[in-house]
Amino acid sequence: MESYKVDILAFGAHPDDVECSAAGVLLKHIAMGKTVAIADLTEGETGNFGNAEKRKKEAKAAADILGIKFREQLSLPDGALENNEAGRLKLITAVRKYRPEIVLCNAIHDRHPDHAIAAKLAADASYLAGLKKKVTLLNGIIQDAWRPKAVYHYIQDFYIEPHFVIDITSYMDKKVEAVMAFKSQFGEPDEKINHSNSGLIRHIKSTNAIYGKQINADYAEGFTVDRYVGVNDFFQLI
Ligand SMILES: [Zn+2]
Repeated sequence: MESYKVDILAFGAHPDDVECSAAGVLLKHIAMGKTVAIADLTEGETGNFGNAEKRKKEAKAAADILGIKFREQLSLPDGALENNEAGRLKLITAVRKYRPEIVLCNAIHDRHPDHAIAAKLAADASYLAGLKKKVTLLNGIIQDAWRPKAVYHYIQDFYIEPHFVIDITSYMDKKVEAVMAFKSQFGEPDEKINHSNSGLIRHIKSTNAIYGKQINADYAEGFTVDRYVGVNDFFQLI
């Protein structure tokens, strides 16, 4: 059977959440030789622009730009996400399928109500996936338990004080390219217009510039974590 094992699994409530908030970090780790999977909880079918089919194609194009190894959509209801057993089982199945060391997921508090729910769903599923008696099946076979080492929340529309930031300066252009792959999200019917100076891109760049400033980087992405961040020594910090 094909091995789906990756180093990082990034969950997003909607198909462009991961790109807008964590694409730089994913690009950086892929350049280091790490492998990444993205699991979109919904197909983004309730968004004001585009539709599920269009957004699926855009998600594939963005994943190709980033060099993501696997991407799947878990088909939970967009705009109506709930942290319930059915949803948790889908996410636990994904965690056990990809066996990531690190899980990235939505912001803990944000404008779109799906984001905070997705954040809790992903964090809960990452813990529960480590419980042997919690049974899930993949292709009819019982999955082995797996618990990621850490869960980090990326930051989206609302400003949240990050617990740590990662320099993504060298990957900013490629990140913008990946976000722009979601053409429908820039409004219709102007999909052919170059959106590199659109409000969304300017917002992403300015947020990443603020997070970068304190570490003397042009751009950084910020994350929060529920537990302390631990490092082995002072010199791993910049
Ligand atoms: Zn979203």
